[in-house]
Formats: sequence, structure tokens, C-alpha cells
Amino acid sequence: MTHGPLRVDVSPRLCCGAGMCALLAPEVFDQSDQGVVLLLDAHPPAAARTAVREAADQCPCAAITLHESP
Ligand code: SF4
Repeated sequence: MTHGPLRVDVSPRLCCGAGMCALLAPEVFDQSDQGVVLLLDAHPPAAARTAVREAADQCPCAAITLHESP
């Protein structure tokens, strides 16, 4: 599978457990038993990008950061 230059970072300290990320991009984000975000794939494939961007946009705690190469 081709992996693009998108890199994902999460800040579990900022996460308030809303769960939007795991709903929108379950192949990239999960939640611990306490509801805190778990990053499953820091370099998601191109097919997951739209969902990952949406998850970052919709995270109410700004706990998801995307780094995109030009
Ligand atoms: S959407 Fe944000 S606040 Fe909600 S679980 Fe994911 S990282 Fe945490």
C-alpha cells in the first residue's frame, strides 16, 4: 500500500474523549478503556486522508495535529 507524506500526531493530554476521531477514521484512531485517543497509524495511507482531516477538524480539543509535506 502506498503511504503519502501525511503524518499524524495526537496529544493524549489534550484529548477529552469525545471519540470523533475513532468514529471518523477507525483505521487510524482508537480509544483506550479510559476514552483517551490512541494513534494506530501515524502515516495513514492516501485513502484515509479525508477521514483523518475531518477527524482533526472535528476534534473538540484540538488534540490531533497533521503534518503535511508540500
Ligand atoms: S476527537 Fe479529539 S477529543 Fe475526541 S477522542 Fe479523538 S483526540 Fe480525543
